[in-house]
Amino acid sequence: MELVNLTRRTEIGSNSYWLKIGGKNLILDAGLHPKLEGRAAAPDFSLVPEASVDAIILTHAHQDHVGALPLLTRREPQARVFMTAPTARVADVMLHNSVNVMLRQREDDGITDYPLFTHRGVEFSSRAWHTRPLRKRFNLTGDPSESDQEVTFELYAAGHILGSAGVMIRYRGRSVFYTGDVNFEPQTLMRGAEFPEEAVDVLIMETTRGDAPVPIGFSRANEEDRLARSIRRAFDAGGSVTIPVFALGKTQELLAMLWKMRLNGLLAPVPIYIGGLSTKVTGLYDATAAESVRNHPELLLLQEMAPYVLSGNEIQTISPKKKCIFALSSGMMTEHTLSNIVCRRILGNANQSLFFVGYSDPASPAGKIRCAAMGSEVSLEEGTPPITLRCHIEEFQFSAHASRDTLRNYALLLKPQKVVLVHGDMPAIDWFQLALFKELPGTEVIIPEPGRVVPL
Ligand SMILES: [Zn+2]
Ligand SMILES: [Zn+2]
Repeated sequence: MELVNLTRRTEIGSNSYWLKIGGKNLILDAGLHPKLEGRAAAPDFSLVPEASVDAIILTHAHQDHVGALPLLTRREPQARVFMTAPTARVADVMLHNSVNVMLRQREDDGITDYPLFTHRGVEFSSRAWHTRPLRKRFNLTGDPSESDQEVTFELYAAGHILGSAGVMIRYRGRSVFYTGDVNFEPQTLMRGAEFPEEAVDVLIMETTRGDAPVPIGFSRANEEDRLARSIRRAFDAGGSVTIPVFALGKTQELLAMLWKMRLNGLLAPVPIYIGGLSTKVTGLYDATAAESVRNHPELLLLQEMAPYVLSGNEIQTISPKKKCIFALSSGMMTEHTLSNIVCRRILGNANQSLFFVGYSDPASPAGKIRCAAMGSEVSLEEGTPPITLRCHIEEFQFSAHASRDTLRNYALLLKPQKVVLVHGDMPAIDWFQLALFKELPGTEVIIPEPGRVVPL
């Protein structure tokens, strides 16, 4: 067995790993780097011989795992792409949206590489997609198989977002488990991961939250109460609340939290504004509610919460009203996005509130605000004047990624011969390396250098 990290850097960025097992070439995920532009954002697929890939496994439909899939399937049209049924529905929406964003960026920012693929490219790619249920073994052709003499796959619920799955790959008594993005604790909508507990030879593991422990006394229930209190306080102060969120995952978790708050009498019904992509994805959460691995399968978010959908044109003229919630993407307030535009209107107003509920890259507009001192000047978009920071800001922890302790415990349970650490910035990877070195002394810990062949 061999593994090649196809991403270009060791950090939270794009995800794509080439696994050679039983003479077959498999690619795990095909993401785009959210912070890089043009071709540099894609994994280095040129390392893989053209038309040689047997199968591609997609763990979930976040951009950093699915964004480069049409580029890969164009090079490897013979490869079957396996994923869960909800992931296929969400991936289709996300990739078509990505084409629209790239076309706009070509126009606005002059990035001539864009679009990296077209709507037709997405359609072409999707012809190779095959959906498979959780916990059913299948082979390279997608047929059910329990045979030990061929490479088989089995998907397990990962508790991260709708459709997310880890994958077990088995061949002649050897096994590799790739976590993808995972969360072991239940969120408001998603149930915790239901991962295999058998011993494996190789564990390929995400490390997103390795850089920080869970604060002492933290619980998601307390955090939800704190959010409800803070929203009420913001309304009492005569303002609105803006919450930048990712369109896929965080928007739906937030809507479910607001629904629970209403149900428990913690929040009166107020207008909630979301964007067009978030609305499409929320519709898919609703459409798959009955058959997906989640809490509150009866909850249809669009029907219950009736969020108001903000179009790109309306956002130009809307002025923040009292007692309403803007749950807008992007989560990091990237330039030209709905959350960036609304934030520019509220940032200088002491009556308004801005709440952060997830991770922001320090270099992103959201990251800049989180680091800035009250009263300092912040610039959210090139070419626009800086704004004096006056609005009320609070931070909450509703991560969709496993805490470092739960991930370490999972590695201890599986006792793999080798652990491959991926999807983390260097401080996060360092923590896992040290923790596993101490607690699993017989296990080899591997940080796969981009482009290098790692024997497994
Ligand atoms: Zn993810
Ligand atoms: Zn990810």
